[in-house]
Amino acid sequence: MQRLKNQVALVTGASSGIGIAVAKALAAEGAQVVVNYRSSKSEALQVVEEIEAEGGVAIALQADVSDENAVQQMFAEMFAAFGTIDILVNNAGMQKDANLVDMSLADWQKVINVNLGGTFICAREAAKEFIRRGVISERSCAAGKIIFMSSVHDIIPWAGHSNYAASKGGMKLFMQSIAQELAQYKIRVNSIAPGAIKTPINREAWETAEAREKLLKLIPYGRIGVPEDIGKAAVWLASDDSDYVHGETLYIDGGMTLYPGFATGEG
Ligand code: NAD
Repeated sequence: MQRLKNQVALVTGASSGIGIAVAKALAAEGAQVVVNYRSSKSEALQVVEEIEAEGGVAIALQADVSDENAVQQMFAEMFAAFGTIDILVNNAGMQKDANLVDMSLADWQKVINVNLGGTFICAREAAKEFIRRGVISERSCAAGKIIFMSSVHDIIPWAGHSNYAASKGGMKLFMQSIAQELAQYKIRVNSIAPGAIKTPINREAWETAEAREKLLKLIPYGRIGVPEDIGKAAVWLASDDSDYVHGETLYIDGGMTLYPGFATGEG
């Protein structure tokens, strides 16, 4: 059974890590997928090729999600190729880590503009199309679905990464506010908040045995996540199986948000 048959999905930042797994998982459920990339064209084309090899449909479209004109151009190209959009996965994100006293304004703004500003621009463009088109009941009960790729750091403070944590914390209330606003149009809006997933963004946290051991202390379930853990959840949130789920954040973190430092009840 293909739960996303005939639906069009845009996955931002889909040439790497979690975005690849989400794009492939949506395509495997029948969605026609736009693989957005900023600069990694050959990696994006590779994702398209792999989706096609499995019998799926995908195209790669370039856009920096923090650039309004580029995003609007990408949406126009997506509409020319597939006619509309049903699912937006706001996945593109980045880190530029520094302690507060060493953080440049440029690095603060870059992270906020991409992680938060980019999701605003893409969500606005998708919502306009969802509202214009409305529900097509053969495809989905909803007029559209927006999924944000947040982080456990939308609730766990993170010293040395304050710009990143601020962007994800901001995303939480942005997601909930537009969920309130868009429900009347039957547009569902939710977030996935990954814990530690093995991707290039956090390579130094899992690359060496020493780093892995330190990281595993934060994960009660005892393993580092893989992008496919997130891909499966994205399919569920995009499908009618989650039709009554709205304004929620799904923490997929092996229990990281259970604050394992307090597991013994001491201290
Ligand atoms: P990644 O670095 O492998 O992927 C990030 C992707 O975003 C890349 O493809 C990158 O090119 C793209 N991107 C960055 N800036 C962009 C821009 N301006 N325009 C378009 N694309 C842009 O990392 P990942 O782990 O796959 O991260 C994906 C998302 O998941 C991010 O939002 C990240 O914050 C979030 N996340 C990841 C983890 C984790 O443990 N890996 C945990 C929590 C949240």
